[in-house]
Amino acid sequence: MSFLVKNYNRKKIAFSKGKGSYLISTKGEKYLDFVQGIAVNSLGHAHPKLIKTLSNQSKKVWHVSNAFIIPEGERLAKKIVRNTFADFVMFQNSGAEATEAAIKAARRYFYSIGKQNKNRVICIKNSFHGRTIAAIYASGSKKMTEGFGPKVNGFDHFKFGDHKSLKRLINKDTAAVMVETIMGEGGIKIIPDWCLKGIRKLCNKKNVLLILDEVQCGIGRSGDFFAFEKSKVKPDIVPIAKGIGGGFPIGAVLMNKKVASGMVAGTHGSTFGGNPLAMQIGNAVFDIISKKSFLNNIKKNSKYFLNQLKKIKQAYPNIIKEVRGRGFLIGLQLYKDQSDFIKKLMDNRLLTIRAAENVVRILPPLNVKKSELDLALRIIKKVCSNY
Ligand SMILES: *Cc1c(COP(=O)(O)O)cnc(C)c1O
Repeated sequence: MSFLVKNYNRKKIAFSKGKGSYLISTKGEKYLDFVQGIAVNSLGHAHPKLIKTLSNQSKKVWHVSNAFIIPEGERLAKKIVRNTFADFVMFQNSGAEATEAAIKAARRYFYSIGKQNKNRVICIKNSFHGRTIAAIYASGSKKMTEGFGPKVNGFDHFKFGDHKSLKRLINKDTAAVMVETIMGEGGIKIIPDWCLKGIRKLCNKKNVLLILDEVQCGIGRSGDFFAFEKSKVKPDIVPIAKGIGGGFPIGAVLMNKKVASGMVAGTHGSTFGGNPLAMQIGNAVFDIISKKSFLNNIKKNSKYFLNQLKKIKQAYPNIIKEVRGRGFLIGLQLYKDQSDFIKKLMDNRLLTIRAAENVVRILPPLNVKKSELDLALRIIKKVCSNY
């Protein structure tokens, strides 16, 4: 019997080893892993450079307090600032922490300029920003908040795509609009570039900060380093996590100068956040994924994969309703509940994971080989043909 709290609905399988795109179960069966810890193992399992980095750093120093300078973190922050919109970086350990710290930074900025009532955050209904008390109320999902009251105040919600309601909600008390550039858990829903531009314009007009949650869609997942880059929109604050650690827990909040000015000494902290071990791995992951050639490869391979998936949809229009996504953040929306489909893929040794709206989420490692994509396509086709 398991002595773990039953807060997960786990599949009856465990793994003892991973390599690249594959996982080996404890029974010795080989699975193509297109979950990758939910967009976490951006470079697949057991990447040689990450093994070397972890092993080298483990012999030097694992952890020191943020009471001291941490050169490994300074280095990673500098790289992020040089390559992105950000002027400053604050390291955390997870996505929920990063989104919460993003909210704190937004509120603290307005507080620091004497506008302490400008503290409300507008989010999309049924989005996903993590599972901490504030983050579940930010997500505005009935399912996630049920039984966890009292309600955390300070969040307003609009429906995905409902521009009018967003406009109506913004008022003098609004500190920020926080949205996922591409909704992951919510069913792989892309906010179109023109919408992002519109939101940015609205935020500028109303003196509101724009927080783009790139915890899932960032770090190369979309084919650009950040999913918002394609739109040319500049956010004020961006929480990241999942992919930046390549499997090691790392979170961070990226922000511009203006926002960072409010976060003076003592306003926020994290015991583990940004420790040398995490930071060295973050450096290694960043060095690989931020390369133009690496990103171009994601674009090329994912385009091929998406096109092939669309062909499968055309062949099975009664099973697959829509192929959604960008880069390697992909969803197959089915007409009915996806659980059985996911199980059949798994029976055929392909691991995928659910998202809202009957979506089968497909998250290959960013360095997936074309032959592995082809294998996944064959399995998906086979499951469709026997469905
Ligand atoms: C996963 C996720 C989070 C929460 O990350 P955790 O590491 O599970 O706390 C927040 N926002 C988005 C968009 C996510 O996908």
